[in-house]
Amino acid sequence: MAPDSINTIPGEIEVNGRRYRLPEQPTVVVCIDGSEPGYIEATVAAGRAPWFAKVLKAGTNLVADCVVPSFTNPNNISIVTGRPPAVHGINGNYFFDPSTGEEVMMNDPKFLRVETLFPALQRAGCRIAVITAKDKLRGLLGKGLALVPGKACSFSSEKSDKASVAENGIEDVNALVGRPVPNVYSAGLSEFVFAAGVKLMERDRPEVMYLSTTDYIQHKHAPGTPVANDFYAMMDGYLAKLDAMGCTIVLTADHGMNAKFGADGQPDVIYLQDVFDSWLGKDEARVILPITDPYVVHHGALGSYAVVYCDDARKWKAKLETMPGIETVLTKEEAAKRFELPADRLGDLVVVSTKHKVLGTSAAQHDLSGLTEPLRSHGGISEQHVPLICNRTLAVPAGDRQWRNFDAFDLALNLVG
Ligand SMILES: [Zn+2]
Repeated sequence: MAPDSINTIPGEIEVNGRRYRLPEQPTVVVCIDGSEPGYIEATVAAGRAPWFAKVLKAGTNLVADCVVPSFTNPNNISIVTGRPPAVHGINGNYFFDPSTGEEVMMNDPKFLRVETLFPALQRAGCRIAVITAKDKLRGLLGKGLALVPGKACSFSSEKSDKASVAENGIEDVNALVGRPVPNVYSAGLSEFVFAAGVKLMERDRPEVMYLSTTDYIQHKHAPGTPVANDFYAMMDGYLAKLDAMGCTIVLTADHGMNAKFGADGQPDVIYLQDVFDSWLGKDEARVILPITDPYVVHHGALGSYAVVYCDDARKWKAKLETMPGIETVLTKEEAAKRFELPADRLGDLVVVSTKHKVLGTSAAQHDLSGLTEPLRSHGGISEQHVPLICNRTLAVPAGDRQWRNFDAFDLALNLVG
C-alpha cells in the first residue's frame, strides 16, 4: 500500500493527511476550467440554466480561493490531492527543471510527489472514472490507478479515439458517447467530457467521477455573452441528467478569468525578459511563464504570473515593485510561504501582474496571431476566486471557513447531507 493513504476506519480513507468518508452515492467532482464567478449566475439570469438555478438556490453556493499561480495543472492536481502545490509538487504547466537545466512541461506524472485520492478510493473498493478535455492532464490525474474496464478508466476527449484498455481502462469511447473526436479548440471538447460522463454513469455507475473541462470558451467570451451562456446551458443539461441518476455533484474551477487588454483592444503586456535584458544584458536573467502549454492559440502564453531566475533578486524585486501593472513581487522563499509552493521548483523571483495586465517574455517570442478576440487570461491573484457549488446542502453550517477549491472532495464526501 502506498504511504500516502491508510484505511484505518471502515468507511473512511486518509489521503495526504486528510480524511474522507467513502461515498454512499455516486460522487461527481467537476473542474470547470476558467469558471470565473459570474458565468453561472449570468446564464441563470438569462433563463438558460434551470439546474444551476435550482442548485444555487437550494444547494450549497460558496466562493473559494484557488491556488496561485492560478493555472490549470497546479489547481487540478490540488483538487484531486486535497493539498496545495507545496505538498504535491505541481506548481505550473511548465517549469525550469534545475536538475536537468531544461525548460519542460510539467505533465509528466514523475513530477507528482504524492498520491491523488483516486488510487486510495480504488483500494477501498470504489469504481473510478476520470475524464478530461485535453490529454495533457490525463497522465497526472490517472497516476496510480489500476485501469480495469468497468472499474477504473482515465481518458480525454482529445484522444478519445485512441483510448485502449491497457492505457485508459476503456475502449470504443466514441461509440459509447455517440460522438466523434472533437476539435481541440472548441466548446465540443468540453461537451464531450460531460456526454461521456453521463454515458459512463448510466453504464458503469462509478462511485467516484472526476470531470475536467477546458477554458477555450472562457478565454474568448466574458460572463453573460451569448457564447458563454450557450456553454453553461449545455453543461446544465448534462448536470441535470447526473443529478437525476442520484449523483452528489460538486463543481469548482481551477482558476478565474479576466480581460487583459488595453483601450486599443490589444493585450496589455509587460515583456519581462525584455525588461531584464535592458537592466542586466541579454539573457543574463531567465524569465519563465508557467502558463505555457502546447495549446497557446487562445492565450498566446500570456498570463499574470511569471518566475525569474536572476542574481541579486532583492535588488530587482525593489525595482519591479515600482512598475505600473505589477501587483506583487516575491522572493522564492516569500512566494513558497505565501502561495504554498515547492521552493525547489521556483525561480529567484515570483512576479504577479495586476487584474488587467499580463506578463510575457520577449515581444518577439509571443505569437499573438491566434488571438481572434481581445485577450482574456489568468495566472494572478486577481483570478483566485472560483465557485464551489454542490447540489446538496451543508450538513453543518460552514461558519467563516476560508474555502479552497481543493476542498471539493472534502465537501462532496464529508460535509453535505
Ligand atoms: Zn485552466
